[in-house]
Amino acid sequence: MAADVVSMERVVALCKRRGFVFPSSEIYGGVGSTYDYGHYGVLLKNNVKAQWWKAMLQDRDDIVALDSAIIQHPKVWEASGHLAGFTDPLVDCRACKHRFREDHLGELQCPLKPSKHPGEAEQCDLTEARAFNLMFKTTIGPVEEEGSVAYLRPETAQGIFINFKNVLQFSRKKPPFGIAQIGKSFRNEITPGNFIFRTREFEQMEMEFFVPPAEAPQWFEHWLEQRMQWYVDLGIRPDHVQLRAHDADELSHYSSGTSDVEYLFPIGWSELEGIANRGNFDLTQHAEFSGEKLEYFDSNTGERYVPHVIEPAAGVDRAMLAFLVDAYDEEEVEGEQRTVLKLHPALAPVKAAVLPLVRKDGQPELSREVYEALKPIVQTEYDESGSIGKRYRRQDEIGTPWCMTIDHQSLEDRTVTVRDRDSLEQERVSIDDLPGHLAAKLAAPWRTPKLQ
Ligand code: ATP
Repeated sequence: MAADVVSMERVVALCKRRGFVFPSSEIYGGVGSTYDYGHYGVLLKNNVKAQWWKAMLQDRDDIVALDSAIIQHPKVWEASGHLAGFTDPLVDCRACKHRFREDHLGELQCPLKPSKHPGEAEQCDLTEARAFNLMFKTTIGPVEEEGSVAYLRPETAQGIFINFKNVLQFSRKKPPFGIAQIGKSFRNEITPGNFIFRTREFEQMEMEFFVPPAEAPQWFEHWLEQRMQWYVDLGIRPDHVQLRAHDADELSHYSSGTSDVEYLFPIGWSELEGIANRGNFDLTQHAEFSGEKLEYFDSNTGERYVPHVIEPAAGVDRAMLAFLVDAYDEEEVEGEQRTVLKLHPALAPVKAAVLPLVRKDGQPELSREVYEALKPIVQTEYDESGSIGKRYRRQDEIGTPWCMTIDHQSLEDRTVTVRDRDSLEQERVSIDDLPGHLAAKLAAPWRTPKLQ
């Protein structure tokens, strides 16, 4: 592992300590790899999603938004291939009664002999591999009966394909155009783990880009480049992300080409996002299963065709983990150790903290005035408890880029010191200029190297 990659334990500990992420149902002993997001976790996750929406909707004019249902017609999953193909080969161990993914055996520990992989210890007694469907099954309606079976969606993408016709009709778009969606997905993963990297309930940010078939290869390249740059623009170190093209035997049943954006997680290089050239597989399948025509008629050329699809599919939680890992730093400042999240300001849960140096002499009152002035502009915190050093450490740990400190001079000349989280430089700014000063800082470019 690269020396500059923090251990997962340290990130998990910070998330717990500062209330970003908690193990779910903790008072009942937890429920296998499920997590709840606390205040700062929600703010950070919302910022990740907002930046994705911005890149998809605000920064361009060829993508529209969608929010489809989690429970869809069961035929959707027949058509998509998830009912038949969304299976992992599993083996059971008769000795320890645990179940493992066959293709993960080499990375897993034997529960009876942790120094060995499952199947390698003397006691191990593995069964033949068998298929296990990753979709969560449920029933629609009050009675469990045949015909009422439904599934929690294992990806958001199918909700987009089944709405292709609706969107085409109402959005006044024509290929090339995209439909973007963020939402929860559910997979009964056999080996969840590594904190929020792989869970059974997670959020996805998926966009299906519909293009004339001949243009698919160039749009595939376009999206590879766009999605890599998105992570780098949001502060990910360029040498900690890479693109990896899938080998032919790795490709999903629908894909004629897939590349993963990989990030150097504490567990090693792993998928952050998949970008696939899905051809016309999905629209053709849904047309066949539903009997609806899912195609585009170009009135200019008189041509009728089924668009091809380029799909960038990312995980919100996994992206959040990458941003946390990348931003995490421990360093010595004036003889003291500090932990700091050097998050991009656009992602930072709190942008500004207002701190009176002491809790007297009119400083809290003036601080409150500053806080009230900043609050409508950005997520701001007011904190007067504990020593100033301790309050700085706290803001450093949640990644607040700027701390505004009110001291005795502030009462004389209505200025505050603005402390920069990363450089630790302090500048004096007039209280009246503060909202504009902060807005300018947020708008300024921030460590955004372009990829080669
Ligand atoms: P993996 O190989 O890691 O299981 P995948 O190739 O099955 O992932 P996709 O179906 O391409 O994943 O889903 C797109 C994105 O959704 C992934 O790149 C990842 O960021 C996220 N994702 C998928 N499964 C999970 C999960 N169980 N927990 C958290 N995020 C997930």
